[in-house]
Amino acid sequence: MTLQGVRGQFPILQQEVHGKPLVFLDSAASSQKPQVVIDALDAYYSEDNANIHRGVYVLSQRATQAYDDARLTVQRFLNAGDHREIVFTRGTTEGINLVARTWGDANLGPGDEILLTRMEHHSNIVPWQLLAERSGAVIQVVDIADDGSLRMDEFDRLLGPKTKIVGVTHVSNALGTINPIQRICTSAHDAGAIVVVDGAQAVPHSPVDVQALGCDFYVFSGHKVYGPTGIGALYGKLALLREMPPYEGGGDMIRSVRFEGTTFAPVPAKFEAGTPNIAGTIGLGAALEWVMDIGMEGIAAHEADLLAYGTEKLGAIERVRLIGTAPEKAGVLSFVIDRIHPHDIGTILDREGISVRTGHHCAQPVMERFRIPATTRASFGVYNTRADVDALVDGIHRVIEVLG
Ligand code: PMP
Repeated sequence: MTLQGVRGQFPILQQEVHGKPLVFLDSAASSQKPQVVIDALDAYYSEDNANIHRGVYVLSQRATQAYDDARLTVQRFLNAGDHREIVFTRGTTEGINLVARTWGDANLGPGDEILLTRMEHHSNIVPWQLLAERSGAVIQVVDIADDGSLRMDEFDRLLGPKTKIVGVTHVSNALGTINPIQRICTSAHDAGAIVVVDGAQAVPHSPVDVQALGCDFYVFSGHKVYGPTGIGALYGKLALLREMPPYEGGGDMIRSVRFEGTTFAPVPAKFEAGTPNIAGTIGLGAALEWVMDIGMEGIAAHEADLLAYGTEKLGAIERVRLIGTAPEKAGVLSFVIDRIHPHDIGTILDREGISVRTGHHCAQPVMERFRIPATTRASFGVYNTRADVDALVDGIHRVIEVLG
């Protein structure tokens, strides 16, 4: 499959809003879904719906097979060495909470350090704050340089023998910065720490190879990579997952239950208590097969072109200031317009048919760092084109015209 005609595979994009063709530029919040994903959900409910891992009858066997196949797809997508290293979760947020509650609770104590960065999404901050409260551990924060890149000098300075966990985003949702994960993992491991990578904004935009990165945990959400909401995955090194205590208790995560004592199922079942999001998992598998069919390299190149084009076009508008101009960047254009509030920008752009996100993007420490209350963020998906960027530029001119 090629990128040609990709847009036509997204039924939702074939509509007008406020009498204008829809220009969707908010894929970093949630991407739209191609027909194949919608069809996979429909086919599951129309033809195969049954609970998994329980029934001897044909529907349950088909559902189980599809669920297990999706795990192999995620394994291939992340290039994990073993399918048991893939745990299905509700998304990035649950993946991080799972690691904090299990590995974190089992391994952190008073005085230990959790090293985060100032560009983390709230979901890669708050679970660690809760862990710090439970364990007596301390959070250290690596600062951001003026261009939005990570201060690696600060990282090296703060990483030390007390650091137990490094939590870092692969790609920043507010700035677009791509962080040097491989380098971070090497240094962290030398210091005796594990690395938890928030991959929510990375997996939709470029190939990810967890073995090459060397990370201990990697999490992402299905809905940002053309899959359904309510499903995501956690990759964890097998040895770590095996030694971790369970996350939630319930059906499917046990080997045997007695009131005298319960034993747990092997990984990954140990971390998947209760009936999972079967349809979502199958939809996620379909989405990942679809992007792999197109080719992540091709998607990355397409979005890099849009980013370069958009950076040039927006940069040429007086009064527009881009927030986040790191040399290594993925498909996000965050900007402010002198003397105009982002909320007003978003409202006027919406009247022009253009969907962008305005606000703090669940990254309040980033806003504080750049001394701004909010930004307007345009973010790209595989279906965006240079014409979408042109529409955004026209829209921004309209904003300036209307609001002065
Ligand atoms: N991390 C990053 C970098 C994100 O962009 C997001 C979603 N905005 C999340 C984590 C949280 O993802 P979810 O809400 O799907 O769990």
